[in-house]
Amino acid sequence: MIKSISRNLKLSKSPRHNEQILALAMRQIEKMLQEMQNEGKDLSGLKLKKFQKTHHIDCRCGMCAEAKKKNDPRKRGLLEDGFKVYIEGGGTS
Ligand SMILES: [Zn+2]
Repeated sequence: MIKSISRNLKLSKSPRHNEQILALAMRQIEKMLQEMQNEGKDLSGLKLKKFQKTHHIDCRCGMCAEAKKKNDPRKRGLLEDGFKVYIEGGGTS
């Protein structure tokens, strides 16, 4: 049986400097891992994934309009930018 938990880290809506974002993320992840460990979670199956949540498909803001014009969904406006932390536990419990 695979146990998996996930927590989201939400970062700034419009990151100006990736470096700052990453530094912030690292601090938050560190804190999160500490908490998980305190809760007795096994962190050996830890996975980290960056996620971006874009505006609604029907959004007509400048960025989304541009993305539509260029047919590139990655250029859509961003609601959230962050990291997901997963633990996928092995074990047979
Ligand atoms: Zn939009």
